Amino acid sequence: MEKSFDEHLHGHPALSDTDFVADNYRRILDDINNACLTVGRKADEVTLLGVTKTVDAPRINRVIQEGLTHIGENRVQEFLGKRSFLHLDGVNTHLIGPLQTNKVPKIVGEVDMIESIDSIRLAQAVAAAAQRAGVTMDVLVEVNIGGEASKSGVSPDMLEDLLWQIGLLPGLHIKGLMTILPILDDDREKRRFFSQMYKLFIDIKSKSIDNINMSVLSMGMSADYVQAIQEGATLIRVGSALFGKRTY
Ligand SMILES: *Cc1c(COP(=O)(O)O)cnc(C)c1O
Repeated sequence: MEKSFDEHLHGHPALSDTDFVADNYRRILDDINNACLTVGRKADEVTLLGVTKTVDAPRINRVIQEGLTHIGENRVQEFLGKRSFLHLDGVNTHLIGPLQTNKVPKIVGEVDMIESIDSIRLAQAVAAAAQRAGVTMDVLVEVNIGGEASKSGVSPDMLEDLLWQIGLLPGLHIKGLMTILPILDDDREKRRFFSQMYKLFIDIKSKSIDNINMSVLSMGMSADYVQAIQEGATLIRVGSALFGKRTY
């Protein structure tokens, strides 16, 4: 019999046993395929990024071995401490968590993309560090689509202004947008927020702002990646559904 989502999340055996993450990985790839089928998208338009915060190296390496090509970490320190244990050949690394300006020099040039740019101040710090390091940093701008006070991200009505300003900075390539949805039970509500994000993404794309290349729309997590794909996500960030429940 098929295991339920809950069993995958909570019922995993000892940490050293990595078979369950390989199972989860294949199941999520199936979900991606099916979600794409329901809306006439191609599965290769959607990239799965495994969110590795609090996850030990054996589990991460197992999914990489199974074919995972993108991982994301929330914290600069955790990523830098863990990466020498990871088999990162050919794997893209993203920073997806809130970034303090004092940590910027440590991470610029060390990951392939920073997804959490949400102010001109932070963008300037990343641009300056990138120039000092002699690199160009790919970034996404994070949007607070649910308007929650507790969430980071720029509000949708400030987004275009911010993009015009960031577009002027050297050392950065703006590749798209990222968002974290509020916690919602209703699938239609999820889709409504995701479709608002997609609309912003398409609007900005049509405006051809300097140095802005809207190719990545990063949205959808364990609880809502199916709805995100149905509304146009190109990158989904999946943690617990892939690696099991997090223990901090
Ligand atoms: C933790 C995290 C995720 C993944 O969350 P899950 O619900 O475990 O899939 C995705 N994006 C960001 C920014 C995160 O911090």
